[in-house]
Amino acid sequence: MNAPLFRADLHCHSTCSDGSLTPKQLLDLSLQKGLQALSITDHDTVEAYQEALPEAKRLGIRLLPGVEFSCEHRSLSIHILAYSFDPFHPLLVDFCHKHKERRLTRCQKILEKLAQGGVHIDSKELFAKMASNTTIGRPHIAQEMVNKGIVPNIQQAFARYLGEGCKAYIPSSSSSVEETLDLIHQAGGLAVLAHPILIKKSKVFAELLTLDLDGLEGFYANFSADQERPFIEKGEKRGLLITGGSDFHGNAKPQIQLGCSWTPQETFEKLWHHYQQQLTIQPS
Ligand code: AMP
Ligand code: ZN
Ligand code: FE
Ligand code: FE
Repeated sequence: MNAPLFRADLHCHSTCSDGSLTPKQLLDLSLQKGLQALSITDHDTVEAYQEALPEAKRLGIRLLPGVEFSCEHRSLSIHILAYSFDPFHPLLVDFCHKHKERRLTRCQKILEKLAQGGVHIDSKELFAKMASNTTIGRPHIAQEMVNKGIVPNIQQAFARYLGEGCKAYIPSSSSSVEETLDLIHQAGGLAVLAHPILIKKSKVFAELLTLDLDGLEGFYANFSADQERPFIEKGEKRGLLITGGSDFHGNAKPQIQLGCSWTPQETFEKLWHHYQQQLTIQPS
C-alpha cells in the first residue's frame, strides 16, 4: 500500500489575527483535511501557540511555529514568514508585542479617517468584541462595517475604504524587511518571502531576492502550477527553500480551503529539523 500523500500547509490564520477559526479549530480541520503538519502564521503574533502546541501534541499533528510579519519596502507592504523558531523566544515575543501596540494605534487612525468621511465606528465597541489574544487588523474593521450595514461584504470595505490608495488607508508597518529578517535570525528562525506571486513589480521582487532570505513561498493559495513556476525557478536558482501554504482565513476568504497549497515533505523536514535544534538552545 502507498504511504499517504504528505501535506503540510504552512500558511494559515487563526482568531489570534484575522482568521475566523480558533487555533484548536484549525488543528481539528487539519486532521479532517488529512494534513500531517501545519504552521499557524498569524499576522505579527505567536499567541496561537499557547493553545495550539499542547493540542497538536494531543492530536498527533506536527505543528511548526510560524508567524507572518508585516514589513514595508519602498512604501510597499511586504509580508515575511518566519518559521522554526522557539515560539517563546523573548526577542520574538517582544517584537510581536510592539506590532500589537502599533496595530492598535493604526486602527485608531483608520477609524479617525473613516469618521472624517462620515463613517462612524466606535473604537471601544470594536475593541470590546475582540479577545485579549487577538491582534487587530483591517479585516476586523471591515467586518464591523459589514455588521453595521455600511458595506455589503468585507471585499467592498477594502475596495471602497480600507485598501491601498483608499481614503482611510494607513500603511501597515514601519519595520523594514531588512530589520525583520535580522530579528527573525537573531531569534533563531528562518525567513521566507511570503506570496511573491502577489508582488506586482518584478524589480521589487528581484531586489528582495538579494536580501538575507532562507526561503520563498512558491506554492500559494489557489494559483496554478504555471503561474507559480517562474517564482519557484527564481527561488531555486538563488538556493532558497521553496515552501507552500493556503493562506486560509476561514469565512474572511471563503474561496480558500485549508490545505489547497502545501510544502513538499523534504523541505518540511528541513524546517522541522531546524525547529528541533532551536528547542535545545537556551535563548541568550
Ligand atoms: P492588515 O494586516 O491590517 O494590513 O490587513 C491585511 C489583511 O487584510 C490581509 O492579510 C488579508 O487577510 C486582508 N485583506 C487585504 N486586502 C483584502 C481585500 N481586498 N479583501 C479582503 N481581505 C483583504
Ligand atoms: Zn490576513
Ligand atoms: Fe500575506
Ligand atoms: Fe497570510
